[in-house]
Amino acid sequence: MANKHRTWFKAVYRPLPMGLIFTFISALGLLWGAWNLAGWQAREAERSALQALHDQASESSLRFYTQLYGSLQTLEAVPLQRCTAAGLAQLHDLRRHLLYVREIGYLSANEPVCGSGRIPTISELQQYQHWQFGEVDLWWAPDNLADPQLPSLVMGRNGYLLASSLQYLRDQISMPTGIDALVVGPKSAQVLDFRGVSTSLSAEQQRALASSQPLWIGRQRVYISGPSDNYGMRLLISADPQRLQQLTWQYRALWAVMALLLAALIGWLAALQLRRDQSLERALQMALRRGELEVDYQPLVDLETRRCLGAEALVRWRRADGQRVRPDLFIPQAEDSGQICAITQRVIELVLSEQGEFLKQNPNLYISVNLAAADILDASFVQHAQALLTKYQVAPAQLLYEVTERGLVDVALASSLLQALRDSGHRIAIDDFGTGYSSLSYLQQLPVDVLKIDKSFVDTLGSEAASSPVAPHIIQMARSLGLKVIAEGIEHEAQASLLLELGAHVGQGWLFAKAMDAASFRAFVAEHG
Ligand code: C2E
Ligand code: MG
Ligand code: MG
Repeated sequence: MANKHRTWFKAVYRPLPMGLIFTFISALGLLWGAWNLAGWQAREAERSALQALHDQASESSLRFYTQLYGSLQTLEAVPLQRCTAAGLAQLHDLRRHLLYVREIGYLSANEPVCGSGRIPTISELQQYQHWQFGEVDLWWAPDNLADPQLPSLVMGRNGYLLASSLQYLRDQISMPTGIDALVVGPKSAQVLDFRGVSTSLSAEQQRALASSQPLWIGRQRVYISGPSDNYGMRLLISADPQRLQQLTWQYRALWAVMALLLAALIGWLAALQLRRDQSLERALQMALRRGELEVDYQPLVDLETRRCLGAEALVRWRRADGQRVRPDLFIPQAEDSGQICAITQRVIELVLSEQGEFLKQNPNLYISVNLAAADILDASFVQHAQALLTKYQVAPAQLLYEVTERGLVDVALASSLLQALRDSGHRIAIDDFGTGYSSLSYLQQLPVDVLKIDKSFVDTLGSEAASSPVAPHIIQMARSLGLKVIAEGIEHEAQASLLLELGAHVGQGWLFAKAMDAASFRAFVAEHG
């Protein structure tokens, strides 16, 4: 069964099928996103188009009311309390000059005193819808539009009245085909459409007016409404929903094409990446088989005496064409593909075969070997390493293992496996300390002997960098936990002496030596032993 799964996985885990799977999955996700985005975008476009029409109409109708209000103010300057012949003449003259005004007059005790023509009495005006806007009274009767003798809009204050017509108001508002505009009074029982027809609000229109959504989509129409700032009146603009639907489909088509192109690109990149990984994976497999891996040794130096205490084993891949591949180019890939365990075994074997004899002769010397997360989690690792040490008769204390914080995600598990290594006589170092996800909390729980301060912290030492250096704190902490400190990447004498002063014991870096082959390392020890 497991075998069946493996063959199935092998068949699928190839660039073309994986590329297609990635394309398919990302197409699903992206199309879903495109669908929603198109809907939102179309609604936004429709909203802003209708909003522009609303604002335009609102501005024009406000201009109309303002004009009317101006006329009312002019009228108020005329003394009409007593209707003299001169006053009446003035009134007639005035009426001719006032825009949008049909009749003007003055009421006292609810009865007309003086007027340019027939002014409605208050009891007549009671048939109208009435509201106040500030100090101004407004009456409107859209139904009166059918009878040109009757005023359909009256504005008044302090007994002065202006009779106008909603005809003028609707003349202000023009809408393109497919768009409707309704003028709604505060008591929205009767409304006026922009063609001049008086109607009453449908249930859908009432809901649209009550809604606070910027665009309200009903069954029959798509609506937008404004505040009642037009002397108490509001505008309700509506459009044929087909417009929105068409717009939505246009955006959907556009975004779907984009989504599919992007999905294809993602699939293609995934396939490309897998092809690269797999070719690197195959090449590494060959390298292990052909023995193309080598180890260089970078000396570890006592910071005080400058004597060589040991070295860090650093893997190198010498390809068939003689080119040397840097470990940071293939170690991450080997970690992903699981080949790292075989590489670590090979490194330990190379270290012991190249330096086993030398280590036996120099029992105080040690070599540190980098372990990856997978090595720590591999329960058989301890036995393998033990078998090699026995074979080359090297004391476990002469192999130090470096683990990075990345390898310690499961602290409890890592801790028990590191303890097993320690029980068999090895020392453990935390490599690149301070660059990982957490630092302090797990240090106390882990069986560790050495902290290796990452090069990035050493770099800031001795320079004029403004940030306060972290290295002194790390050293302080290591000392309080009884751990030894190795400082990596020392390139300048100033850094070395500062680190010594701060309490670091061991240094590694180009100041002392770069990584070198086995024989050069032995020569280095002879010189600096
Ligand atoms: P690392 O374990 O932190 O090794 C130290 C790296 O810093 C080495 O790079 C070394 O050459 C470099 N270095 C040391 N002193 C200086 C210095 O003064 N200045 C500068 N600029 N660099 C310095 P390298 O050999 O390229 O290794 C890179 C990384 O690859 C290592 O970092 C380690 O994480 C990994 N690696 C190397 N060998 C192995 C191995 O056998 N197994 C595993 N799992 N990882 C390895
Ligand atoms: Mg290291
Ligand atoms: Mg390091």
